Amino acid sequence: MNWALIGASTIARQYLIPAIRSFEGSEATWVVSGSAGHAKQFAADENIANTTTDLAQALADPSVDAVYISSTNEKHHAQALAAIAAGKHVLCEKPLAMSLGEAREMIDAAKAAGVHFATNHHLRCAGSHRAIRQLIADGRIGEVLSVKVSHAVSLPEHLRGWRLDNPGAGGGVVLDMTVHDTDTIRYHLGEDPVSVIAEAASAGMGQGVEDSAMAIMTMASGIQVLSHVSFGHPFGKTGVEIHGSKGAIYGKGVIAQTPAGEVTLVTADGDEDISFPRHDLYEQVLAEFAAAVNGQPHQGATGEDGYKSLAVALAVREAAATGQRQHLNYGEPQ
Ligand code: NDP
Repeated sequence: MNWALIGASTIARQYLIPAIRSFEGSEATWVVSGSAGHAKQFAADENIANTTTDLAQALADPSVDAVYISSTNEKHHAQALAAIAAGKHVLCEKPLAMSLGEAREMIDAAKAAGVHFATNHHLRCAGSHRAIRQLIADGRIGEVLSVKVSHAVSLPEHLRGWRLDNPGAGGGVVLDMTVHDTDTIRYHLGEDPVSVIAEAASAGMGQGVEDSAMAIMTMASGIQVLSHVSFGHPFGKTGVEIHGSKGAIYGKGVIAQTPAGEVTLVTADGDEDISFPRHDLYEQVLAEFAAAVNGQPHQGATGEDGYKSLAVALAVREAAATGQRQHLNYGEPQ
């Protein structure tokens, strides 16, 4: 599969380009950027054949099968619509867009054009999270009672740009990290949040955007979920705890971009270390994207999954801003 990268971004450089090249016959053949100089430097560093600041030029290349959109968030919508109109399959970064109306338009356009559209929620492609989901599905902890997601960490120095000071680009920790927590718990529990209450705060990093937030989500079945996200917790460690009537699952260090962490099942029989495959998360995202392009059911996050994680993140921001519980119905998929 030939990919055009839309956005000369850190995530493309660190994870997606190596993942694309891990598949025989798969290559990143274009990088599209708002800055010609940045695009050229990026292409030189990463050995990419073609650069442009004109998205249409890359999309006009018939050898491009798919695009990976990892520009800042306010650009995803227009770039995705252009790629879809050109008949390209689209893997789009989270949050899909700045509003639910935009996200719905992207999903509908892809459906109408007959191209595949997916969201890069990488965590559900991790071996750790797949093992956790299987333990729950197998009834190993009985009836699930509550979930706690710890995602309060320190934003790496090199990412301390638009996320901290540009609400127009989709900055703020809620659109950045609550979306991932939401997708992960939806994946584990197989149901959606129906309401949220939340508070957002600044630990001193955010300028005009929140850099920390706590949200309590109530799932359709009544399961309570606590999501704690922050850019400004220098000693924070990530994790997921899932508490059930017959046991609990502790996933330590599993909210990660690498196949990291440990999973422990705790029951009346004691503690059991759970082994899981430690494949590359982004290679798995791409393998499942390619399978879906070839007509198989998509195991990773679809456009609809990205829509729902965005809906919850926007509701969390609104709940924090107003102090009012927000109810979610997601609208009807078209
Ligand atoms: P970056 O800040 O690295 O890149 C975003 C944009 O900033 C680029 O597309 C580029 O604009 C511009 N840019 C970056 N570096 C330079 C530079 N040196 N000079 C000029 N312009 C520059 O963002 P991230 O890679 O952290 O995030 C990009 C997207 O990916 C976001 O939507 C984010 O939410 C998502 N993301 C997802 C992750 C996941 O695991 N699913 C993890 C991290 C991010 P241009 O488009 O013009 O090239």
